[in-house]
Amino acid sequence: MNDHLLHVYTGDGKGKTTAAMGLALRMLGHGKPVLIAQFMKDGTSGELNSLGRFENAHIYEGARMQGFIWRMTPPQLEQARQAHREAADSLLNVIHALRPELTILDELCVALATRLLTLEDAFRLTDTALLYGDAVVTGRNAPEALLERADYISRIEAVKHPFDQGQKAREGIEW
Ligand code: ATP
Ligand code: MG
Repeated sequence: MNDHLLHVYTGDGKGKTTAAMGLALRMLGHGKPVLIAQFMKDGTSGELNSLGRFENAHIYEGARMQGFIWRMTPPQLEQARQAHREAADSLLNVIHALRPELTILDELCVALATRLLTLEDAFRLTDTALLYGDAVVTGRNAPEALLERADYISRIEAVKHPFDQGQKAREGIEW
């Protein structure tokens, strides 16, 4: 069995991204290089500030997105698609240059579900990351093809979430 394994954290409960970042923290604790790319997000989540302080952590900024996808007009959506495709391509170069022992592709499943990226793009990223270390893909609605390739699948179930009681997202907890 290959030493480099693919992890998928999916499901509708809270804890996918934070679990991935926890794994990054663990790998960094061993002094190994870690690459973190967040798709669909604006780069303001707290963990990026903390993990970015580690010398061996590389935060990839190219896949960022401002605003909500469901509010985009068709031309804005096409622009976001183009930007994500270009980001995925340049991320491949970063992976080769950095040779990370852990690559986190946070919310990649959401980029797939919203068709900002194709499965082909996703596999190109995971296959390249797996040349050098483990790869973690997070996000709701992981596609079946990705699950088939994964070595670890953790499906987090939302049993309770205060959002359903009208609770707003809180700094330090949700981002
Ligand atoms: P976290 O980043 O806290 O680990 P996550 O990655 O599992 O959460 P996502 O599906 O990426 O969750 O959603 C991002 C945001 O939505 C998080 O702030 C999270 O708290 C919130 N969230 C997660 N699950 C639910 C839910 N079932 N209902 C409403 N909001 C949720
Ligand atoms: Mg998440």
